Amino acid sequence: MPISFQLEDNTVLAKQHFNRVAREQMRPISRKYDEHEHELPTEWVDFWWKEGRKGAPGRIDGPNDGFVTVCVQAEELCWGDAALYLRMPTPALGGSAVGAAGTPEQKERFLSHFRADGHPIWGAMAITEPGAGSDSAAIETTADYDEATDEYVLNGTKIFCTAGEGASQVEGGFVVVWATVDKSAGRGGIKSFVVPARTPGMTLVGLEKKLGIRASDTATLRFEDCRVPAANLLGSARVSKKGGKKTGDKGFKGAMATFDASRPIVAAMAVGVGRAALDFVVEELGRQGVVIRYDAPRTSQTAIERDLMEMEAELQAARLLTWRAAKLISSGKPNNLEASMAKAKAGLAVTQITQKAVELLGPLGYSRKLLVEKWMRDAKINDICEGTQQINQLIIARRILDYPSSMLR
Ligand SMILES: Cc1cc2nc3c(=O)[nH]c(=O)nc-3n(C[C@H](O)[C@H](O)[C@H](O)COP(=O)(O)OP(=O)(O)OC[C@H]3O[C@@H](n4cnc5c(N)ncnc54)[C@H](O)[C@@H]3O)c2cc1C
Repeated sequence: MPISFQLEDNTVLAKQHFNRVAREQMRPISRKYDEHEHELPTEWVDFWWKEGRKGAPGRIDGPNDGFVTVCVQAEELCWGDAALYLRMPTPALGGSAVGAAGTPEQKERFLSHFRADGHPIWGAMAITEPGAGSDSAAIETTADYDEATDEYVLNGTKIFCTAGEGASQVEGGFVVVWATVDKSAGRGGIKSFVVPARTPGMTLVGLEKKLGIRASDTATLRFEDCRVPAANLLGSARVSKKGGKKTGDKGFKGAMATFDASRPIVAAMAVGVGRAALDFVVEELGRQGVVIRYDAPRTSQTAIERDLMEMEAELQAARLLTWRAAKLISSGKPNNLEASMAKAKAGLAVTQITQKAVELLGPLGYSRKLLVEKWMRDAKINDICEGTQQINQLIIARRILDYPSSMLR
């Protein structure tokens, strides 16, 4: 499919709007919430709930490039601060899961109130467990169907759940939980369930102390006889106890489809953090008299010029892969391969670019006076969550070579 890399006019306006939000609302409080890890960034949360989420007036909701605009928004806001981006009161990954696997009725029921007035609310997605990370088919959390009440009963523990505190504790929010309805069915038994905030049996066990994205709440959640209506199983109202399928149930495949939408967003987040570091370094070195001579022959370029050009090239390659994966979603086309390519490239690029930025600035780069060291710490998560670098490379190899996961693991 031919893809134009020219942004639509409305996407450009949205980009400008979110850059202003990043500059004026996020950067000034970036260091504060990096240092106060588990404190709610109230000024940011209130701003976003009341104003930021509306987007540039008439722009995000009006005709635009669809999913490309979502990625452009992620890049701009993560240029501001990736952790605050993850702390925004939105359906977030939980919303991606409902969008990918939910029925129209479920999308309406779980997502529409995020646009209404009221107090800020959050969504989250809980897949990872102490014994199941990259291999999500190893999930042990169970969902037993109770015919008498037409409910599922969840039991298990989920770890590293982004936005898990807000989504589990604040009325109106929800956590999408992956659980197996039949362990003997392997992947086929895994389904996703929407657990509304404060459902009895869902407990916030604690929050992680982290290397980076410290303003983002990363939670451990325990489920003990936690009951949800059968209608909260994403994709269909009910699945038989043996994991049998009913019309409309997308099961494990539906749940996995969430990644095709979330990976380009994480890739865009990575591009935003990488750009923050690169912009800063170019500006700072410019003040010291360093000018990048793009037309100078390679043999006469300085080491710094070569480094900066390489950083720019890596960033641009990651961005174009991201927009390609996003454009395919907007066009209703499969993007499984392209989503993993974007995520693998951007995850690696951002870790290399931010490390180089720290290096090029010398001791100042390592100092907490600047945000560059923070961007280096914030970068790495983009190479871990939503499938690690290695897992995305594995997916790319499978798609290109046409190998099933059983043959290439
Ligand atoms: C800050 C943060 C936020 C997170 N947010 C969420 C969230 O919101 N929801 C959620 O469900 N999870 C979340 N996670 C969890 C994240 O998705 C997992 O950490 C990730 O999937 C890797 O799983 P794991 O940690 O169990 O590592 P493992 O799967 O144990 O992997 C360890 C290492 O081995 C490599 N590896 C594993 N299998 C293979 C293979 N077949 N071939 C080659 N290499 C391999 C991996 O790449 C990795 O380097 C978050 C994690 C962090 C750190």
